[in-house]
Amino acid sequence: MIIDGKKVALDIRNKIKSQLENFPDITITLATVIVGKNPASQLYIGMKHREANAAGIHSKHVELGENITQRELEQQITSLANDHTVHGILVQLPLPKHLNKEKMLAKIPPEKDVDGLTDVNMGRLLQGHKQLVPCTPLGVMRLIEAYDIQTSGKNAVVVGRSSLVGLPQVLLLAERGADATVTLAHSRTQNLAEICKNADILVSAVGSPALITEDFIKPGAMVFDVGVSRLDNQKIQGDVDFAAAKKVAGGVTPMPGGTGPMTVACLLENTILAATLQDALPRSH
Ligand code: NAP
Repeated sequence: MIIDGKKVALDIRNKIKSQLENFPDITITLATVIVGKNPASQLYIGMKHREANAAGIHSKHVELGENITQRELEQQITSLANDHTVHGILVQLPLPKHLNKEKMLAKIPPEKDVDGLTDVNMGRLLQGHKQLVPCTPLGVMRLIEAYDIQTSGKNAVVVGRSSLVGLPQVLLLAERGADATVTLAHSRTQNLAEICKNADILVSAVGSPALITEDFIKPGAMVFDVGVSRLDNQKIQGDVDFAAAKKVAGGVTPMPGGTGPMTVACLLENTILAATLQDALPRSH
């Protein structure tokens, strides 16, 4: 089975669009910030704006020069934080090396933190009362729901331990309700193939092209490919050897067309949740 992220993402977008059509007088706005001219980041931001607008979410974009100081960056974020017409703030990562990500994130009010990366939102997820959670792992959970994949009591393995993907993914799979037994693997993990082969649900978020081969996959397992690498021929390759995975897995996400569109769809979902937390939309929506 191919787990079709494009289709599920479109369903989410359409649901948001029809929700917002009930409130023609309310404008929900997502603000994005980019520092420098990283082409991949520019591409991702363009996609986020297109999808937001197609869902009926207004968007605004702040483009900052590569050499901006920490203080100037924080001032820009504070200005968006204080702007009552802005409901979600997303700063495209990575930042140039001279800027401090943690200090920047601290300026985003938790209720506008549509990437779910602030200490408050991470802490909430850890403490079992999540609000806004990181979009990519949330997207994997939405695919699991859409395809009615059982998680309770199942073995899940997450490869990669970043705060953007791997760590929140572990928490979302292990939390009450999802109830998977989760193993977190990383670059120091020994016998990675053997550990992965024990997984009913395997999520790979590394960025190592075709790391996950047939030998890593339990027959019938559900495989979610988060990693993105650009090969010398400019083609995009995931962490998973898709052709090999198709032979043995029960289901696998393609790359592209799997977890990527879900990340964007969950950003829209988070923007709606953020607006609700700020009472810009009624709580029932
Ligand atoms: P990251 O911060 O670089 O984390 C990568 C993780 O992979 C680290 O925990 C690292 O371990 C681990 N790792 C590296 N080599 C490994 C190996 N050989 N075996 C096992 N683990 C290994 O990256 P990230 O931000 O989490 O992103 C991961 C990938 O997902 C990237 O390719 C990124 O482009 C992609 N991504 C995709 C989406 C999407 O929507 N599909 C969204 C976000 C990111 P250590 O901690 O030990 O170094």
